[in-house]
Amino acid sequence: MTTYSSQPILITADLMEPLIRCQSEIIRAIYLRASVLYAPGDLRVMDVDEPKPRRGSIVARVRIALTCGTDVKLYRRGHPFAKLPNIIGHEFVGVVEDLGEDVPDSYRGRLFVTMNTSPCGECFYCVRGRENLCERLGETIIGFTVPGAYAEMIEIPERIWRRYFYQIPPGLDLVEAAFLEPLSTVVHGQRILGGVDGEWVAVIGSGPIGLMHLQLLKLRGLMVAVIDRHWEKLDVAKRLGADVVVNSNEERPEDIARSINSGKGFDAIIEAAGKQEAWELAIRLVRSGGKILFFGGLPRGTSVPIDSYRIHYEEVEVKGAFHTTPRDVDEAYKLIETRKLRLRELVSGVMPLERVREALENMGRGVGLKYAIKP
Ligand SMILES: [Zn+2]
Ligand SMILES: [Zn+2]
Repeated sequence: MTTYSSQPILITADLMEPLIRCQSEIIRAIYLRASVLYAPGDLRVMDVDEPKPRRGSIVARVRIALTCGTDVKLYRRGHPFAKLPNIIGHEFVGVVEDLGEDVPDSYRGRLFVTMNTSPCGECFYCVRGRENLCERLGETIIGFTVPGAYAEMIEIPERIWRRYFYQIPPGLDLVEAAFLEPLSTVVHGQRILGGVDGEWVAVIGSGPIGLMHLQLLKLRGLMVAVIDRHWEKLDVAKRLGADVVVNSNEERPEDIARSINSGKGFDAIIEAAGKQEAWELAIRLVRSGGKILFFGGLPRGTSVPIDSYRIHYEEVEVKGAFHTTPRDVDEAYKLIETRKLRLRELVSGVMPLERVREALENMGRGVGLKYAIKP
């Protein structure tokens, strides 16, 4: 026989408090959502364990994350650096919620933007100021080798946040702040390009990267032609100040080049499409003595034919730019903070975590430039 006590249990406030805390911990643990890439094409939104900060790291609540062309590549084909399964997403703004051992308590609650990776500062390339070529760059990359930002919470390894931690002042648009990483690569590219002797630059590719190049070139007072195959993207280029837009489905860019510098061609070209035909087009559009910046990478082993005559007899200068360096990141943050650029216009919509796949598939089909993900 079982007897039940008729004696009521008095639940006092001090008894309730730990109960409530315990329950909310459980709810938080259960409902921590993240978008996990298992294999190319297999992206699942699921519950994951709440990240616990390791020594020196911080854990942040993600306020906004952006999709990026690299995420599209990663989602479709995988990526040489990526360890799957992993939470993807690497452009984000967060609020510090939890601190690992050795992190000063003053960081708690700060709204910030950081980068997805950081150079080691010690290798052959780092000591020469070429941190973008750091031999240890691939070790820790948010969204590739460690969990990324398409999640409610993210852990930021010490090596990354100790170098890159920009506290966001009140009033700054969080979506624009989240552009730090891609913008810093564009700033780096323009530094590699260097001065332009003349006034006409052609940007091939009117995606977010091309449109950031356009805006920086306009800040430098240059005339810019933007070349793409999609009118929706070229319309954005027009709004952002392109002097000429060329839809290469309808017009031959070579014909436009013949109207520049009395038929000699563009003073400089920035290739921002990441396609072999764009690389080849760049070589045809530049004038003698002009410069080309190849910004969009092609798969290893891709050969692009270049008429050696153009390089030797016509002194066409050919440069490549990859990734970024700490000084470019600083400069990019200043551009964001001083609101020098119209970055919001590069975002085609805001979506919840559940729709990351849709956002990446849209981008893959050329629908929309970039999406903001709000976990
Ligand atoms: Zn990116
Ligand atoms: Zn290094």
